[in-house]
Formats: sequence, C-alpha cells, structure tokens
Amino acid sequence: MVRRHTPSLSFEVFPPNPAVGNDKIFQALREMQDLAPHFISVTASNNKFDIEETTVRLTEFIANELQIPTIAHLPAVYLTKDMVSNILQSLDRVGVHQILALRGDIFPDVAPKDDFTYATDLIEYIKTEAPHFDIIGACYPEGHPDSPNQISDIQNLKKKVDAGCSSLVTQLFFDNERFYDFQDKCILAGIEVPIHAGIMPILNRNQALRLLKTCENIKLPRKFRAILDKYEHDPESLRAAGLAYAVDQIVDLVTQDVAGIHLYTMNNAATAYHIYKATHALFNHNPSVQSF
Ligand code: FAD
Repeated sequence: MVRRHTPSLSFEVFPPNPAVGNDKIFQALREMQDLAPHFISVTASNNKFDIEETTVRLTEFIANELQIPTIAHLPAVYLTKDMVSNILQSLDRVGVHQILALRGDIFPDVAPKDDFTYATDLIEYIKTEAPHFDIIGACYPEGHPDSPNQISDIQNLKKKVDAGCSSLVTQLFFDNERFYDFQDKCILAGIEVPIHAGIMPILNRNQALRLLKTCENIKLPRKFRAILDKYEHDPESLRAAGLAYAVDQIVDLVTQDVAGIHLYTMNNAATAYHIYKATHALFNHNPSVQSF
C-alpha cells in the first residue's frame, strides 16, 4: 500500500492540582520534549480549578520554554462569555492560538451557565471574537454518552465541524474497528477534517477500574478484557501488556493511514517514551533519541 501522508504523534497532559505545584509536570514535559511530539494538548478543569492558573500556565510553558506547539482545552458549559474572552486574551498574551473547544460534562448537582449549551456555541463565539484561533473539536467513535444514537451524534458533529473545526481528536478507544467504522460514517456525513485517534495505554488496575466506570460507552474487546483479568494482581505484567496493546493499536492505525495518534500520557513521560521507542519509525521522528 502507498502511504499517503506521515501521521502525527501528539501527547495529552493534565494540569496538576494548583496546591501540588508544577515542578513534577514541568519535569515530565521536559522529558517529553526530547520525543519531539507534533503538539502537546493540555486539558482544562470543568468547574474546579482556575483555567488561567492551570491550563494557560502549562500551555505557556510548553509553547515558550519548550518551543512545542500546544493546544489549550476549553470546556465552556460552566463559563460565561466574559470568562471565555478573558481566557482568550490570556492565551493571546502567551502566544497560544490553538483551542480544543468543548462543552464539558454537565454535573447533575451544578447548574450550567447560560452562554454555551454545546461546543458548537463556543466555536461560533471564538470565531466571532478571536477568528485567528485555530479550533479543534472532540469526537466519539463509539457515540457520545448523551446521544440517543450514533447518527444524531454524527449529525451534531458535522454542525460542529462546519462551525469551524480544523481537525478532531477522538475519545480513547480499544477496538480499532469501531474507529474505522466511525471514520467511514464521518466521510459519508461530509466530515472531511483530519481525525486524530486518542490512545490510552492501560498501566495499572486502578486506572482500568476508573476507566470501566467512567467510559461505559466504550467497548472492551475480548483480547483487552483477557489482559485485565489475567494480570489483575500482577502489576508488572499488566503494565507490560497494556503498553504492548497500545503499541499494537497504533501500528494498525498508522498502517491504515490514520491522520494522527494522540497519546493520553496521564503525565507519565516514561509511557510516552515507551510508545515512542516502539513506534517512532512510523512517524518519521527524531531518530537521535536513544533513552532517558
Ligand atoms: P458537544 O460537541 O457539545 O456534544 C455533547 C452532546 O451534545 C453530544 O451528545 C452531541 O451529540 C450533542 N449535541 C451537540 N450539538 C448539538 C446540537 N446542536 N443539538 C443537539 N445536541 C447536540 N472535558 C473537560 O472537562 N476537560 C477537558 O480538557 C476535556 N478534554 C477532552 C478531550 C477529548 C479529546 C475528548 C474526546 C473529551 C474531552 N473532555 C474534556 C470531555 C468532554 O468535555 C465531554 O465528553 C463532554 O460531555 C462533551 O463535550 P463535547 O465538546 O464533545 O460536547
């Protein structure tokens, strides 16, 4: 098969609780810098921490001290237009101009603000207020949990992309066939922007249990369940098998011409390094990196 393009390899990190401080995450990011990712995205708290103090500060560090392109996540359901404008100004000030525009999860016990009901509302607002920002959207190969079915979810995704997304990043998934099926449906719906596949290596039992609880919409293939069952009480083997599973997924996706792999690193530079080492030839990356 002729390869049509070189896929990107990017990372996602989350800001620590401000009470903990940034020393550890800055060190992890410096180690990730050696792997020359195409970009690093930084998640944002939906209603818990101050986004300027957390997400904007990390993106500033990545863009200016590490000189790596960065994307600030921005969940808007608990923000007002004024709050979003202030965040946009802060991002402008630190030279970050890429936003992953999100609705954010709605908590049953916290009433949303009135300004942004869907991510599309936020995208339209940014396009009017600050059209120089590049906007990325989130998507769900196995359907968003609030959606009655995948067709309406993809119809809504089409509206979101038409509002001004230049690319999409998926929720994590473990069954590549679900991703390929979703990609095909997006093409049929006229969604033509690049779709970056979100991959999360499972490294320990607690992470797996948390995931099973929060991502009920995600199918766990038999092969993946077998790993969780067999190595439930053997942390070292679980980590090794979790990493091997992620590498296997990535090799298959890249072979089938995925636009990019977005690695959910959980702030763990060693994980990023392991995946990088096993797959970097596929991404045409900096071959001089040998080890930490
Ligand atoms: P939307 O695109 O608004 O979709 C939400 C639901 O509304 C879907 O069911 C959709 O079908 C439906 N919908 C959309 N438009 C319409 C419409 N016009 N009419 C009717 N229905 C509509 N959360 C955080 O808090 N912080 C983060 O940093 C973060 N990062 C993420 C990164 C990625 C890659 C992904 C996949 C998710 C991330 N999330 C994050 C989680 C995200 O906020 C939740 O999944 C949230 O529930 C949906 O956000 P969204 O932007 O996809 O919503």
